[in-house]
Amino acid sequence: MVTTIHGTPVVPGLALGPARVTVSDVSPEAISRYGDGGHADDDQALAAYDAAVATVAEGFRAKAAAADGATAGVLTASAGLATDRGLRSAVRKNLRSGETLLPAVDHAVEQFVTVFTGMGGLMAERVTDLRDIRTRVMARLVGEPEPGVSLGTGPVVLVATDLAPADTAGLDPQQVVALVTERGGPTSHTAIIARQLGIPCVVGATGIVAAAEGRTLLVDGATGAVQLDPDAAEAAARVQQDVTDRAALARWSGPGRTSDDHPVKLLANVADVASATAAADGPVSGVGLFRTELSFLDRESEPSVEEQADLYAGVLAPFHGEDRHVVVRTLDAGSDKPIAFATHPDEENPALGVRGLRLSFTDHGLLDRQLDAIADAANRTGTSTWVMAPMVATVDEARDFAAAVRSRGLVAGVMVEVPSAALLADRMLAEVDFLSIGTNDLTQYTMAADRMASDLAHLTDPWQPAVLQLVALTAAAGQRAGKPVGVCGEAAADPLLACVLVGLGITSLSMAAAAVRPVGARLAGVSLEQCREMANAALAAANPSAAREAALMVVAVG
Ligand code: PEP
Ligand code: MG
Repeated sequence: MVTTIHGTPVVPGLALGPARVTVSDVSPEAISRYGDGGHADDDQALAAYDAAVATVAEGFRAKAAAADGATAGVLTASAGLATDRGLRSAVRKNLRSGETLLPAVDHAVEQFVTVFTGMGGLMAERVTDLRDIRTRVMARLVGEPEPGVSLGTGPVVLVATDLAPADTAGLDPQQVVALVTERGGPTSHTAIIARQLGIPCVVGATGIVAAAEGRTLLVDGATGAVQLDPDAAEAAARVQQDVTDRAALARWSGPGRTSDDHPVKLLANVADVASATAAADGPVSGVGLFRTELSFLDRESEPSVEEQADLYAGVLAPFHGEDRHVVVRTLDAGSDKPIAFATHPDEENPALGVRGLRLSFTDHGLLDRQLDAIADAANRTGTSTWVMAPMVATVDEARDFAAAVRSRGLVAGVMVEVPSAALLADRMLAEVDFLSIGTNDLTQYTMAADRMASDLAHLTDPWQPAVLQLVALTAAAGQRAGKPVGVCGEAAADPLLACVLVGLGITSLSMAAAAVRPVGARLAGVSLEQCREMANAALAAANPSAAREAALMVVAVG
């Protein structure tokens, strides 16, 4: 029996709990075991379908009863769709034409998918629900648990193939003590969500879904080791020690500075009013990345300027004050963050397509309206408001964007996510007031490795020397220009890497609020000179693990 599975560590901390496996697909083994289902005739097969559908619909209704508002409505609609008579007729027709039950269901759903897609609009959006229903019905038929995050009672370690933002909306860190997934790299959404929740997380843990059911897991988010059924006493002692260590971190109260008082602005990454309000209570100098697109993931049409301004004002207001500011990022729609009213559909290669600032090339209105709303919110709240564009590749783009932002009385910057922006950092800084390095995308584009690809986690690692070189170039340009250059990608949340970034000349670090104390405490324990030594050592290393070791060695030697 497997005793330990190793993945990529993304959020440090130790957690112990029973595994709760959430599957997003029916396993091929179960499908082949089920075979033709052994039904005597079509009627018997249809009866099995009816029973499975009834159970699935009942599950939706139970969840709807426990939810409220829009969520309850969506779940009730799904229950209706599962028991749809037209869908049942299509299954029966496929059975009559000689198919066995699983293909009959699969093809009936695909026929509906084609029809719904052709209708467009709201109906087309039900396609995801249809496919979800298919998976649930097939899971019931073959005797597997239905996919989705169902937590039951008590604290659990959530184990999944991968997690979509919708799966994890509203997860309670009291109930989910750690996340472990098979897919996803250090910059995947699972990692981002885990940091927001402040719980240990390991991604790219191949084999965990098959191995974890019914077992207790000890998740080490610092090393990536997931122990199955560990020695109870030893595990409890380790978790207790981790709790003590974390309590020490919790005593760190800011502001961000090294042991020899070199200031480093520590900022929060936020997604909405709730996360901004929570972050404002912590030891942060403001927000370094407000991902505006995350508020619009479920919107079909563009919110009005007034509605946007209300939302932005809600995020800005808690950071009103002398020493604080908020960096609002304009819509980064496209690729891994599809937004119905903005994303260009059917792109061959969305990560390299019309995403972020590029959406304004053909339609400037979307950006103009968003900037109007941000300016209105800034005026209303009086909060110092900086605005930056994602996915900037050329100096002309930076100049045009800065003009649009400054004409509204706001501070203008651009993100460095495309290697060209890092290589042209001096010239970019001649046009804008600040730069913010998005190491998640900068790593993806530098290493030509999809940030979601678990097989490539060793490449999508911000400790890669090539990525550090580009950060070094950009930070040095900032020092020459006397303008701030921050990091707002997940790299800023890694306490050791944070020291390296400061050593490279980075002036601010923006991260999930839960990561601020560990990073602040680590920085408080090293001098600027040590940070510089760590940076030089990491830059000179041959690969990410050598870079980590070299940086650690500087601290160990003291
Ligand atoms: C980044 O790419 O590092 C970044 C901060 O943007 P996002 O993760 O939202 O793409
Ligand atoms: Mg990005």
